[in-house]
Amino acid sequence: MKKQQIVIIGGGAAGFFTAVNAARINLQAEIILLEKSNKLLSKVRVSGGGRCNVTHACFDNAELVKNYPRGGKELRQAFSRFSVNDTIRWFEERGVELHTENDGRMFPVTNNSQTIIDCLLHEAEQYKVRIRTGCEVTGIEKVNNKFNLLVSLSGDEGGEHTLTADNILVACGGHPKSAAYDFIRKTGHTIVEPVPSLFTFNMPGNKITQLMGLSSEPVLVRIPGTKEGQEGALLITHWGMSGPAVLKTSAWAARTLYDTGYKFDARLSWLPKMKEEELRDFLSGLREQEGPKQVASFSPFHLPRRLWEFLLQKSGIERTILTR
Ligand SMILES: Cc1cc2nc3c(=O)[nH]c(=O)nc-3n(C[C@H](O)[C@H](O)[C@H](O)COP(=O)(O)OP(=O)(O)OC[C@H]3O[C@@H](n4cnc5c(N)ncnc54)[C@H](O)[C@@H]3O)c2cc1C
Repeated sequence: MKKQQIVIIGGGAAGFFTAVNAARINLQAEIILLEKSNKLLSKVRVSGGGRCNVTHACFDNAELVKNYPRGGKELRQAFSRFSVNDTIRWFEERGVELHTENDGRMFPVTNNSQTIIDCLLHEAEQYKVRIRTGCEVTGIEKVNNKFNLLVSLSGDEGGEHTLTADNILVACGGHPKSAAYDFIRKTGHTIVEPVPSLFTFNMPGNKITQLMGLSSEPVLVRIPGTKEGQEGALLITHWGMSGPAVLKTSAWAARTLYDTGYKFDARLSWLPKMKEEELRDFLSGLREQEGPKQVASFSPFHLPRRLWEFLLQKSGIERTILTR
């Protein structure tokens, strides 16, 4: 009897993880992984600054999904079947130990993404996953419960070929152009238009860029018209603003920001842990405690001094004004 053929489209983290598990669970099947480029797991290599942030030490799925800007419902289902604990165990069983950083991020103890790549490649070899690089799937057609895949090969046997599969899994990752998903769209699936995410703010001509190199933490970034703000470290760059608070904001507000044509206001709270009332009381208290001092001569909130001076200037407060 001919072996069941399962074809995985895409040689990234998702494709590999599926391929090796499908091969392990279904020893009778032939697993074929197709990758259009000549590189495997290339994003895993650069992930987490080359260290690969494998998972996060959050063991409550309801809490975990709150960290994803979209798809929480679907992810909750997925995590209920394969949790953070399962991920840790999966790698541990294959000799890859993870360690947890103070903020909950989990990396291989080697702090090297190559450890994760080696683990996945080793599994694929052990379970005889057939890997084909330089092989792009350009069309999928369903015929009598089977799939005919139109593939375009590069290299010596270049050109168009057809491959038949009993089951397929599409793990082709993200792409900035919607047209990249046409081969899936043609099968009847609905594709959500891709928009940029995890980007920094480009603010040409904005005076804040005078503070380039300065960072402050925590800062709350809000986009008027969107629900929540994002808090974290903020870095001023020579083009605008960056850092986790900005990157997270761009991810959570990705669709709103796209709709504005990337012309939008951002509201920053440099002291997000203090309510306005508290802040006013603090300043009044400060006036009592401190002798008369020039306001620009010290920063009362542990804000970087340059930022404090900038904020005074923006608020129209003279540097030389006395606290009382
Ligand atoms: C700089 C950076 C750092 C990151 N750091 C982290 C991190 O620390 N932790 C974390 O969890 N995530 C991180 N990410 C995100 C993470 O890398 C991705 O979410 C993850 O790699 C996506 O895996 P994937 O398999 O879905 O897609 P991809 O890795 O994009 O793989 C998809 C593959 O499919 C191939 N393909 C596409 N279309 C076809 C086709 N038609 N036929 C054949 N092949 C096709 C592509 O060439 C590609 O190799 C980071 C991303 C970047 C860019």
